Amino acid sequence: MNNQNEMKEIDELLVHTYNRFPVIFDHGEGVYLYDTDGHKYLDFAAGIAVSSLGYHNEELNDALKNQIDQLWHISNLYYTEPVLHAAQQLTKASQMDRVFFTNSGTEAIEGALKAARKYAYSKKNGRYEIIAMEKSFHGRSMGALSVTGTAHYREPFEPLVGGVKFAEYNNLESVKALISEKTCAVIMETLQGEGGIYPIDPDFLSGVKKLCEENDMLLILDEIQCGMGRTGWMFAWQAYRVQPDIMCMAKAIGNGMPVGAFAMTEAVAAYSLAPGDHGTTYGGGPLVCAAVAKVLEIYEKKDIVGHVNEIAPYLEEKLDTLVEKYDFVTTRRGKGLIQGLVVTKPVGDIVKKALTEGLTVISAGSDVIRMVPPLVIEKEHVDEMIEKLEKALQ
Ligand SMILES: *Cc1c(COP(=O)(O)O)cnc(C)c1O
Repeated sequence: MNNQNEMKEIDELLVHTYNRFPVIFDHGEGVYLYDTDGHKYLDFAAGIAVSSLGYHNEELNDALKNQIDQLWHISNLYYTEPVLHAAQQLTKASQMDRVFFTNSGTEAIEGALKAARKYAYSKKNGRYEIIAMEKSFHGRSMGALSVTGTAHYREPFEPLVGGVKFAEYNNLESVKALISEKTCAVIMETLQGEGGIYPIDPDFLSGVKKLCEENDMLLILDEIQCGMGRTGWMFAWQAYRVQPDIMCMAKAIGNGMPVGAFAMTEAVAAYSLAPGDHGTTYGGGPLVCAAVAKVLEIYEKKDIVGHVNEIAPYLEEKLDTLVEKYDFVTTRRGKGLIQGLVVTKPVGDIVKKALTEGLTVISAGSDVIRMVPPLVIEKEHVDEMIEKLEKALQ
């Protein structure tokens, strides 16, 4: 009863932009969450693909507690050591040369779009148009919305940033058809997450890269959801050896600390953002950078990516049995530990029912049950998830 009142009050106090699930979470431990009534939930949502190392990781928490006592804000007018450690680790893991730390994924997209426009501006090549993908998701700010390929997200806020055209994901001809002497960049997710878990076709990715090289356009890859080991590669593009010119990261890079980043190659940096072109008061602060550095250190020490490759085939196999068993579960799509089950029953009802069974999963697109668990799950957690999900499917 008390909970009901609290939830009602939260709904009345916050701008009504979310229909929240009826649960008040209190704390987390490993791959489990606990609500204020002490109920336990197996977490296959990870705060939307964020908490890759799970909850209450002692080493990470200790690093953050130490940093809180030392220094947590100073602005980008000064140097700090955590930003050095975070940048060293992130450029190494991403194989990119230069990084700019932001406060979110959306801001990483904003920065990437500006970086691409500035590159074209410096080269005086007259290019400013951007090709984005249908069904894409890149965030909710005016710039990020402008390249997000779902009309109902965009329409209430138009006119947005101009010069954006939408191609069909995994359809190279549709990209080719949109290229003009004004195109400066192509932006896409390396695996579409929110749109419904669509892995990229390797030939499409390499085809787009080739078009970019031939036409002096930049390839911007959004790895905000699919990066950081989730697909079984540190960054999803590494599976195909198609390096972006600019890459966006966020979600798991701070394991829940609000931090994102966009990174670029030296070739781009030479013509792109210069002092005064871009900035952020909070971005790249010592606290979030301590998180990024420690998260990446743990990834390496614990071989998180190797672990994803060990567990993922088991998850895929178990999910495939559901596709065989239930008529209304039609397909599985995904890579590594980002998996989707396409269902013909209302997905929202299944997700809600799963919660009452003690399992958090989320939806993607209009008909996909999305599973993006912490990357540290074990086979026993997969078994437990299947058991709970099957109850929710009834
Ligand atoms: C979540 C997400 C974003 C936006 O990130 P925020 O941190 O919510 O601003 C952008 N692109 C993709 C692919 C995402 O999954």
